[in-house]
Amino acid sequence: KEELNMIQGALELRTKTVEDVMTPLPNCFMISSDAVLDFNTMSEIMQSGYTRIPVYEGDRANIMDILYVQDLAFVDPDDCTALKTITKFYNHPVHVVFHDTKLDAMLEEFKKGKSHLAIVQKVNNEGEGDPFYEVLGLVTLEDVIEEIIKSE
Ligand code: ATP
Ligand code: ATP
Repeated sequence: KEELNMIQGALELRTKTVEDVMTPLPNCFMISSDAVLDFNTMSEIMQSGYTRIPVYEGDRANIMDILYVQDLAFVDPDDCTALKTITKFYNHPVHVVFHDTKLDAMLEEFKKGKSHLAIVQKVNNEGEGDPFYEVLGLVTLEDVIEEIIKSE
């Protein structure tokens, strides 16, 4: 039965999209770009348990950087380092994908890419104004794998 589920899951990679499996923006653990890496902020980051943390500027939908927990290895909370100092130093690329990207294509991208996390966006042309890019959430390799090995 498990094998059948996995085959089923693998087949569904062709039809399911990243939007189906992503972590929606409201549930994303993120950090403001103007944060200061004091004891409290660093504790919060460590306690979140996440390895990759999107950094937003102003609005949570405005993701500018990704902070990796390992970037904090040499940061001393007593120095109250500006987060910007760290993100500028490491300058990890922010990988963005469209919401309708199929999971098989996403898996290929993760396999050849440098990062295992992508920001999910769509073109929003629902309102009166000009169409704009809307950030919906984040997707990681884990979300795609989970889709394959899930047992219902
Ligand atoms: P790793 O396992 O590489 O240490 P991780 O545990 O931080 O990374 P993943 O294993 O890639 O994260 O993903 C686990 C789940 O957590 C996935 O559903 C993913 O969408 C979600 N996730 C990853 N990063 C965040 C984040 N910053 N905020 C909220 N959810 C996240
Ligand atoms: P991700 O964190 O994106 O899920 P991962 O946790 O599986 O990836 P790796 O795949 O080991 O981590 O690393 C992701 C990318 O970062 C790789 O392309 C790797 O070359 C690069 N990388 C990892 N460690 C280092 C390092 N110490 N110095 C420079 N680049 C690194």
